[in-house]
Amino acid sequence: MPIKTHTSAAAFPVDTADDVTALVELLGRAATDERLRNDLGDHFAYVAGTHPEWLRPHQEAVVTEFLDGFDVTFDNLCVLLNGAPDRCVEHLQRRLRSRWSYQEAWALAAIGTEAALTAIAGLVCDGVDPKEFEDSGIWTPPTGSAQYRFTPHRRAIELRPVSDRAERDTADHPVGLPLDQVVRRTDTTAAVWHYLSLRLNRMPGMPDWPTDRVHLASPKGSVGWTLTAAVDRDGLWHDETVTFDEPPSNDDAEVDNSDPRNIGAATLRPYDGDLVYSNGHILSMPSVFGTAGGPPIGLYPNPHCRCCDHLMFHILTVQNYIREYGHGWRSLYLCEQCSITTCTATNWN
Ligand SMILES: [Zn+2]
Repeated sequence: MPIKTHTSAAAFPVDTADDVTALVELLGRAATDERLRNDLGDHFAYVAGTHPEWLRPHQEAVVTEFLDGFDVTFDNLCVLLNGAPDRCVEHLQRRLRSRWSYQEAWALAAIGTEAALTAIAGLVCDGVDPKEFEDSGIWTPPTGSAQYRFTPHRRAIELRPVSDRAERDTADHPVGLPLDQVVRRTDTTAAVWHYLSLRLNRMPGMPDWPTDRVHLASPKGSVGWTLTAAVDRDGLWHDETVTFDEPPSNDDAEVDNSDPRNIGAATLRPYDGDLVYSNGHILSMPSVFGTAGGPPIGLYPNPHCRCCDHLMFHILTVQNYIREYGHGWRSLYLCEQCSITTCTATNWN
């Protein structure tokens, strides 16, 4: 079974809807049993990737009775609790008004219905800091309901090594492009290293964008940077700006983006029973480096657009290993209103 739990014991079958019913029945005990809770979390990640409809009849029980035992990452929660009945929204809203709880706030955000997004806007209006939801990719405008700034559809990003540049150049999602295919001016750009470009129209639910491809690239610096650029009608970056959490060290290794090592082509594959689900994610497979779509990681503040200040739309997050440079997570965001793109580098946790 493609589940590897923390304790290496994929103890429970997940082959039928009845198996999922049996998992839900263990959630009460899991509230006070951390090992069971973690193990079940991996099983539910697998359910989210393969048969989320098997959890649907249990959404209300999970939200109203068993949330303490339901240790599931936010991206999986968004699949499993999506569309839960309004009674769940009312229950969570009532609880959150009396006592703040991340777990309950994430559950409310994961439901994603108009009722849930209206409830989030109501909580913010009543004084909850909107940043509590922005870290998970949910924007609360000054009026109206909250909005998802990500598509709930997810695809695993898998790397396929290529043998020559021509194969890379014709790929939908190339890894290791020359910088002149990313930026307008290679002599003045802060970008030094290309990780990945993505054809947005290969993914459902992505925002409108003037060109086919969006790019993820890095300035010089290992981690803790934010690189923002305006995007031309031809897709090339200009007016790049970089901010660092800490100034980069002059000792940081020089990089040569034209280095032919690690060029490749990424493919997007559906979440299904052929991925390996471990520790709440799918990254234990050697060929898988991240996810396109889904919410951002949730551990860090997400970027606001430098022009309009709206929370930016999360496109993808990959590990730096997809094309070895720097350290940690690399995420790509867009503001579709202003044609602004932002890449960030954050630490593992
Ligand atoms: Zn904007």
